[in-house]
Amino acid sequence: LPSAAIVGAGIAGIATAVRLAVQGYRVTVFEAQESFGGKMHQLELPGGYRFDGGPSLFTLPHLVDELFELAGRNPADYFRYERLDPITEYFFADGTRLTAWAEEAKFAREIEQKLGVPAADVLAFLRRSGQAYAGTADTFLRRSLHKAGTYLRPEVLKAVAVLPQLGLLSTMHQRHAAAFADARAVQLFDRFATYNGSDPYQAPATLSLIPHLEHGLGAYYPEGGIYAIAESLVRLAEELGVEFRYQEPVLEILTAGPQVKGVRTSQGVYDAEVVVSNMDVVPTYRRLLPHLPAPENTLQQPRSSSALIFYWGIGRSFPELGVHNIFFSADYRREFEAIFQEKTIADDVTVYVNITSKKTPTDAPAGHENWFVMVNVPHDQGQDWPQLVARTRRAVLARLQKALGVDVAASIRAEHVWDPPGIEARTSSLGGALYGSSSNNMLAAFLRHPNFSRKLNGLYFCGGSVHPGGGIPLCLLSAAIVADLTSA
Ligand code: FAD
Repeated sequence: LPSAAIVGAGIAGIATAVRLAVQGYRVTVFEAQESFGGKMHQLELPGGYRFDGGPSLFTLPHLVDELFELAGRNPADYFRYERLDPITEYFFADGTRLTAWAEEAKFAREIEQKLGVPAADVLAFLRRSGQAYAGTADTFLRRSLHKAGTYLRPEVLKAVAVLPQLGLLSTMHQRHAAAFADARAVQLFDRFATYNGSDPYQAPATLSLIPHLEHGLGAYYPEGGIYAIAESLVRLAEELGVEFRYQEPVLEILTAGPQVKGVRTSQGVYDAEVVVSNMDVVPTYRRLLPHLPAPENTLQQPRSSSALIFYWGIGRSFPELGVHNIFFSADYRREFEAIFQEKTIADDVTVYVNITSKKTPTDAPAGHENWFVMVNVPHDQGQDWPQLVARTRRAVLARLQKALGVDVAASIRAEHVWDPPGIEARTSSLGGALYGSSSNNMLAAFLRHPNFSRKLNGLYFCGGSVHPGGGIPLCLLSAAIVADLTSA
């Protein structure tokens, strides 16, 4: 059997392992940490609280089902999920509250009632978002943008031709400000730029297709939490014969002329015809391939934002909150200027609170809740993190107190903090960026690293730092593209 070595057991590495095993490769996954998942890990805090460590919002669940089907299994035997309704509870700085219902018409009516924006405008916007998605997703996300053949396909030429109309030349914020007269509605839709670590005031209006994922196609909740995605796929991979080797970092990708021939790990040397790196592409070149000329243009692309997360075991319950809750700041532009221009955190921040115990009661003791409290922050560039974390913790508590009318700090029974240097230490993502490079300019999609090496035969790349991008669905698609390339 031909053998494949995968560097990293993040969600993309796991999905690639499944696909290559189905193709008949003998697959070994080398993982530096003690377990799988990477950003999609889980943690427990004293007192009976469980948390999903990283991602919390799940869209396009069929991309997970597809892997079980590919292996001839029934997805529901491994992994179950439900459509979330409502999706998100929004708390605006002026005290307005709004519930994002799953059904588009109901969501539009809610925006009309709470924000005074005509429901018809919301529906027209969501329809355009859906059209932009339908016109581009398959083309730009499903296959390599870096193989000449891709551009000869008629549907691709058609999608490239519609790009200017989709708003490559204006920003997401401009698109939303033109669509809605109310600043709160603009803020609500601008936030979708953060789904790939970008800045709505810089990212192209094309990204206004992101709301369609959540509001058109739906937000989902996996039974047991997001970690169940990684867990169920590892179970499948192991059934297919994939070997996972934990606490065994890959130190070098071995080559013979223009061909990869294996990996050197902390434990030894392994031969492989195919090597797939699920490690961030920048350290892959810098550390694992120090002698290979690196594609500097690609590696110098600006990084996406990172996150600061407080995991809090909360000793009471908040019936007014749901699974996803957003507490907006008063000045959104200021927040993004702080992140992307000043490399710091604004004094007044938008706070995201994810509470899985609303759906999985065993994630917290009875009457308690598990709060994953996240703020968007710049990636690590040597800032004074202890000072920024302490200041932002106070800002978060002040924002929550204003919205909920109680001192949340008094209910914190257990706490853990994850900051950008911590994210880098655990996952090797440069600077702790959540999504590799940012999508803050119109060519960003074309400047991501391809899913293969132009210099070394047999070397491939998957995961959030390469094409088509970060986030669970795009990571899963990167695995599908790698599998297309290895089977070609
Ligand atoms: P990673 O998860 O980055 O894993 C890479 C793995 O490779 C790690 O396990 C690492 O230890 C291992 N590794 C690295 N170098 C080596 C080496 N040399 N040898 C061996 N192993 C190595 N996405 C969403 O879709 N929805 C969300 O709501 C969402 N929210 C997020 C919130 C947070 C706080 C974070 C951190 C991320 C979030 N994301 C979200 C993004 C999403 O989690 C990532 O895009 C995705 O999980 C990245 O997966 P990956 O396969 O690229 O690899």
